[in-house]
Order: sequence, then structure tokens, then C-alpha cells
Amino acid sequence: MSAKRGLVIVNTGPGKGKTTAALGTAVRASGQGLRVLMLQFIKGGSRYGELDGAKHLPGVEIRPLGLGLVMPGQDRSAHQAEARAAWAECLRVVSAAEHDLIILDEICVAVHFGFVSAQEVVELINSKPPEMHLILTGRNCPEEVMAAADTVTVMEEVKHHFAAGVKAQAGIEF
Ligand code: ATP
Ligand code: MG
Repeated sequence: MSAKRGLVIVNTGPGKGKTTAALGTAVRASGQGLRVLMLQFIKGGSRYGELDGAKHLPGVEIRPLGLGLVMPGQDRSAHQAEARAAWAECLRVVSAAEHDLIILDEICVAVHFGFVSAQEVVELINSKPPEMHLILTGRNCPEEVMAAADTVTVMEEVKHHFAAGVKAQAGIEF
């Protein structure tokens, strides 16, 4: 048996696949008997397939934190209080050490909007239980957070069907 070492993995960049890759890891981790929690930081209105899909995966829980998308020009103050409550939940579950893998989905977007500072995320990384794996997703991951991670993947957009006018497809986008 290899030594257990909690990893910090960042999935960022403009191309599609950041959240999908994190969900793929959750499937793999479930098969290995790991306890997995995904906190969905920022999500749109529609019900995501992964919420129901995860019910079929032993040990995997997905918890939406109730934050919608912030549109350009929109007042962010309502989101600010919700985002801080969501961040408090992140801190709580990481320090509780009741999971083997925690996925903070779209946390980088929350940082980009200024709801959470990059320094706070770095502190979370540095204070997590040593055996816990963390996956952070979202566009525009700050440099400090990437520097604190073990593995960083930047998804590159070569093409995306949205550009050809194809709408979001159930099971592929949500
Ligand atoms: P996914 O959840 O499909 O893995 P993602 O996590 O990489 O996507 P996000 O930045 O979270 O991407 O954006 C979420 C939504 O935007 C998804 O519906 C996704 O298909 C879509 N999307 C992702 N990348 C692009 C892109 N380059 N152009 C247009 N839409 C995109
Ligand atoms: Mg995503």
C-alpha cells in the first residue's frame, strides 16, 4: 500500500471540463470507498444532473450552497453575504475532517468576484487535514492558489459548441 497523501488539485482555465473532471474523480473515489463532498459554490438556476447522479454513488454527497451566477453589472451585495456563509461552510467541513475528498466547485469564480480572498483559500489549503484531498475548480484561479496546489490543470478552449449556437444539453452541461 502506498502512503496516503492528501493532494490539492486545481482545475481552471477557459475550456470545458473543470467541473466534469472533478465529478469524474468523485466517481473514482467512490469506487475506492472514499467519503466525498462536493460543495457547489456558484451555480445557475437549473437542476444539475450530478445532484441526482451522486445519489447512486456510495459515499458521495453534493451540496449546493445556493449561490446563483453574478451577471456583469449586477449588484453583488446580496451575493456577498451568501458567499461568506458558503465560505464559512467550506471552512467548517474541511476542519471537521469527515471526508477524504472535498471538491470546492467554482471556488475560483468566487475569488474572482472578490467574495473570498486568494489568501483565505491559501490558508484553507495550508490548514487542511494532511490526508484530505481537495479539488478546486473554476476559471481565473489566482496565481497564489495555483502556487499552493500540488497539481494544476488549465483547460484550454479549442472550440465549444456554444459558439456555433448549440444550447446547453442535459447530461452534458447540467
Ligand atoms: P463543465 O461543468 O461542463 O465541466 P466547466 O466546469 O469547465 O464545465 P464552467 O466555467 O464552470 O465550465 O462553466 C459552466 C458552463 O459553461 C457549462 O455549461 C459549460 O458547458 C459551459 N462552458 C464551459 N466552457 C465553455 C466555453 N469555453 N465556452 C462556452 N461555454 C462553456
Ligand atoms: Mg464548472
